[in-house]
Order: sequence, then C-alpha cells, then structure tokens
Amino acid sequence: MTATAGPRTNWAGNIAFAAPDFYRPASVGELRAVVARARQVRVLGTGHSFNDLADSPGAQVSLAGLPPEVEVDSAGSLVRVAAGLSYAEVAGRLDRHGFALRNLASLPHISVAGSCATGTHGSGPANQNLSAAVAGLELVTADGDVVELDRGDITFPGAVVHLGALGAVTRLILEVVPSFEISQRVYEGLPLDVLDDHFTAIMAGGYSVSMFTDWRAPRLTQLWIKSRTEDGPPAIAEEPWFTAAPASSARHPVPGQPPGNCTAQLGEPGPWFERLPHFKPEFTPSAGDELQTEYLLPATQAVPALHALRQVSEHIAAVLQICEIRTMAADELWLSPAYRRDSVGFHFTWRPDTAVVLPVVSLVERHLAPFGPRPHWGKVYTLSADDLHARYDRLPDFLGLARHYDPAGKFRNAYTARNLGR
Ligand SMILES: Cc1cc2nc3c(=O)[nH]c(=O)nc-3n(C[C@H](O)[C@H](O)[C@H](O)COP(=O)(O)OP(=O)(O)OC[C@H]3O[C@@H](n4cnc5c(N)ncnc54)[C@H](O)[C@@H]3O)c2cc1C
Repeated sequence: MTATAGPRTNWAGNIAFAAPDFYRPASVGELRAVVARARQVRVLGTGHSFNDLADSPGAQVSLAGLPPEVEVDSAGSLVRVAAGLSYAEVAGRLDRHGFALRNLASLPHISVAGSCATGTHGSGPANQNLSAAVAGLELVTADGDVVELDRGDITFPGAVVHLGALGAVTRLILEVVPSFEISQRVYEGLPLDVLDDHFTAIMAGGYSVSMFTDWRAPRLTQLWIKSRTEDGPPAIAEEPWFTAAPASSARHPVPGQPPGNCTAQLGEPGPWFERLPHFKPEFTPSAGDELQTEYLLPATQAVPALHALRQVSEHIAAVLQICEIRTMAADELWLSPAYRRDSVGFHFTWRPDTAVVLPVVSLVERHLAPFGPRPHWGKVYTLSADDLHARYDRLPDFLGLARHYDPAGKFRNAYTARNLGR
C-alpha cells in the first residue's frame, strides 16, 4: 500500500512528528505488509501523548482504519476490541451488552491500544490502571507475523505496557464487569491541612476520587467524588472535619474552561462511561492548549509528597493550569508506573510553553525524588534512563522481551533510545 498524509503533530501540538511516511492500512493483511517492508516503524494511536513516544524515524502507522470490531464474550466476561478504537467508541457498544470496563481515564478520546501501551489510569484506591484489564493481545511483529499473547504466557505481564516497542497491536482482549451507574459530586475549598490526617479516607470516599489544586493557595480548588449509585452519596462529606462546600452548579477542573465540556455532576446518576471520565467525548478535553506531566509514587508517601510540593508551590503555580491528585491500585505489569505499588499520582496540566515549563518539571522531580517517582510514559518529564532503570526493576527484562520480538530494533525510536537505553 502507498503512504498517505498523516497528522504532523501530536494532539497537544508540542511534538512535530519527524516520520517521513504515514500509512493507514484497512486490514491486518495490509498492516503486515507495511510492517514487514518498513525499515523502522511505530504505531500512532490518537496522538494524546505529550512527548515523541509515538514518532518514528521511518514509517508511522495508524490502525484507525482497521475494521472497528467490538466482540463481547458474555460467558467469559471479556470483550475483544480492535486496537485503533477509542474508549468512547468501545464504551457505548459494551454497555448495550450489559457490560462495563472497571475504570476509565479523565477522557474517553484516547485509543485503547495507545492507552494500555503507556499504563494510562483513572483513579480509585481499588482500581488498577487501564492496562490491568488486558487479558490478551494480538501483535504484528517486526517480520509481519501475527502473534497472540495471553495471561498463560509467563512474559505476558511484560508485554501489556509495551510503549509501542514490541510490535503493532491489532486487537486487545479486555476483562469486563456488569454495567454500573455512577453519580459524581464536586466539593470546593478543602484546606490542604485536612489532608495530613484524612488523605486516605478522602481518597476512599468514592469509587473514583480526584483532588485538584492550582497551588495558589493552601486548599483544594475542587474535589471530585464519583460514587457507585448503590453506595449512595459520599459519607465522607458528613464528617465534622470535612469543611469543603458542595459546588452549586457544574464545574470544569481547569480554571476558565466551560463546565459544559464535562460529564454530568450534582449527583445525577448515569452510566459508568458518562461519569468516570471528567470530559465528554464530543468536546475538547481538559484545556486543549497545554502540556502535561505526572508521577506515580507509593500511596503511603502522599502526605509527605504534598508537603514537598508545597515548598515549591509558587514556582509550580507560575506555569500551572491545574494539578490533579489520584490513586491507583498496584498491578503486576512490568512497566506499569503502579508496578507492585499502591500509588498516588501527582498530575500537572501546565501552560503550553515548553521552555518555561521544563525547569519547573525538573524542580518537581527533585522535590519528589525521595519518594521514587515513576513518570507517566506519555507525558513530559526530564528523568534520565538511569533514573528510570533505578525505578523500574523489570526494565532489563522488558528490553530482553523487546529484543525477542524485534531483534533488529525496527520498533525503536529516539524516545526508546533516550529513555530505555543506557
Ligand atoms: C487531555 C488529556 C488528558 C489525559 N488524561 C489522562 C488520564 O486521565 N490518565 C492517564 O494516565 N493519562 C492521561 N493522558 C495521557 C494519555 O492517556 C496517554 O498518553 C495515552 O497513551 C494516549 O493514548 P493514544 O492513543 O493517544 O496513544 P499515542 O500517544 O498515540 O501513543 C502512545 C504509545 O502507544 C503506542 N501505540 C499506540 N497504538 C499502538 C498499537 N496499536 N500498537 C502498538 N503500539 C501502539 C505508540 O507507538 C506510543 O508508543 C491524557 C492525555 C491528554 C491529552
């Protein structure tokens, strides 16, 4: 097949793709031919990563043109989905079969394959990241062969969060649960000091909880609590020490952005896929003009880490749009930022200005260093390959797996050389 015009930047516009060729195969057969012929190749999902992870020195391939399969196996509580589909495209179809995914990220616009490749997550102390739902993968490897992997393979936990370095994922099998309803409520103005004693209780106060602060004052600007409807309104809001006021109308977490872009609040019940993300699929998520950074640390370190960040809050606030704090349950996936650690995630939505943001990113990294932060693979960070090797015990095993599936390094790029090499 012939090359076609593709997107020249990522979603945020901070990365200009250098890949000289772009392909949009319409079948797995066409994809196999593109991969087998290419000297270098990477798959582009929906391009929502904030670094050059999805770029390629040769061919870049989108799988959005593959048949949009969503096949539900009700007896096995599994769904098989085409890798190029977004969560928004999968969720409604799954719900019509009476099933749900356990959790979603803040936006449903992102591709299932691209999200699982980077360990993308939502929130909830009992909720693992989205990749933890992956029970099987179909992969086109460097020579164009199709390989199927599942949980019976000893290296499967290494292959799920793969950073695009093992091959082109064409299908994923995801675990599903019976469909459920969520209602979400937003509270405002909780003093940061309250978190010293009650961080864990607040984070456990709903199925999925997000704290937001702009670091301009020692308080949370907003606290979003998403509860399963059968659990009723959050009991935490009745605690005497809980001084946050319920928002009187819908809110957007990013100051100045329209609340109409966000999923329904004020306790109105709705299906899981219309409440777990903060942002509706038909609108621009978040701010649109932005950079993002995020670190996952052991959940036990949440309060000391908050204090460490308070020491540099003025520097952070100067280039910040909003900071979000979430929790994730530990998993067994080698490159997951939550690998074997119940985690707290500190996320920063920055102003869209790389030059002024990068020094603050480094400052945040220095202040979080005592807590062993693992960066989100798809966001902006300045940690070195040595730092990453120190924080990901299984990185050498992953590099071995990559050499197994891709001995000539066809799926490598500048990002993998810079971050995974030594
Ligand atoms: C507004 C916004 C909000 C966000 N919110 C969250 C959030 O709540 N939680 C969170 O964790 N992250 C969040 N992110 C980050 C985002 O979820 C990740 O960067 C995710 O990886 C993006 O998915 P994508 O499909 O755009 O992947 P891309 O950026 O296109 O690609 C990511 C990686 O996956 C690889 N890849 C993609 N598809 C395939 C495939 N089929 N086969 C092999 N490799 C593949 C690419 O080569 C690349 O290495 C957010 C991003 C934005 C822009």
